[in-house]
Amino acid sequence: MSSVPESLVRDQLQTRRRWLSRAVETGAEDPEIHRLLSAVDAALGRLDRGTFGLCKSCGDPIEQDRLAADPLLEFCLDHLSLEEQRALEADMDLASRVQAELLPRRSLSSAGWRAGHVYEPAGPVSGDYCDVLTLPDGRFFFAVGDASGKGVSASLLMAQLHALLRALLPLGLRPEETAARASHVLCESTLPSHYATLACGWASPEGDVVLVNAGHVPPLCVGKEEVRWIGASGLPLGLFCDQSFRAVEVTLRPGELLVLCTDGLTETRNPSGEEFGRARLEEAARALEGSPPEEAAAGLAAAAAAFRAGGRRADDLTVLVIQRTA
Ligand SMILES: [Zn+2]
Repeated sequence: MSSVPESLVRDQLQTRRRWLSRAVETGAEDPEIHRLLSAVDAALGRLDRGTFGLCKSCGDPIEQDRLAADPLLEFCLDHLSLEEQRALEADMDLASRVQAELLPRRSLSSAGWRAGHVYEPAGPVSGDYCDVLTLPDGRFFFAVGDASGKGVSASLLMAQLHALLRALLPLGLRPEETAARASHVLCESTLPSHYATLACGWASPEGDVVLVNAGHVPPLCVGKEEVRWIGASGLPLGLFCDQSFRAVEVTLRPGELLVLCTDGLTETRNPSGEEFGRARLEEAARALEGSPPEEAAAGLAAAAAAFRAGGRRADDLTVLVIQRTA
């Protein structure tokens, strides 16, 4: 994530300062108000001296996503006090439990379709988005997305995307219109550095799928005869306030799989620094042809883990597989 402009931070701090001064003037004797007021003044002072955003202990830049969420921070993650570390761990634990509640069940089926997924955060929380649900008209909605940035700020954006799409789906709009509206809301309501890639689709009981791809890894269709990538990828959601999207239509035969994943899978690296890449994904997917979707998703995540060969996981990883059952 890129840094938040200083003028924006100064504006935010000055607004907070006005609210705090007003509270003091109206006679608030709350010591917390006075503590916050001095913390805001200190942050404004750091902006003036050019030391804003630098850790007071080591002088290194404080993590940008933390600073964007809380401009009063004075220490990097490595130099938090024991008390702050405990509070952060408790927050992360809560965030991770909230996020787990947003995920679909491991295995889900709907008229003519069945879905299975694997969701593996790199840390306590993930910036990946994954959702599956049956719409009131009987179609099966499925989506995989990836929020910009890492850690807590990305997980908040993921939760926002989840809520947005859940709110838009009952309107029954066309997929490209749903993506355009979600993009507009994200653009207007988040920091300029926040955007998300998304591949989502609507599958009918007859096997017809309409897909929209907003800057995401293209979905892969896996059948007996062939394995094919579906559709080109457009711009991510939330990059510009007025963006349009294109939908593509495909029909899956019974037994065929549709694989959606985040770049945590394709960009997995082995110890020599090579990427797993789309060719290896294609090969691994071909070997899973005809498997139940839960097994196929687990098999692809296992192929990436084997390729990593014990190396550090650098990014969140999500695989969603849907299969036409009849
Ligand atoms: Zn530090």
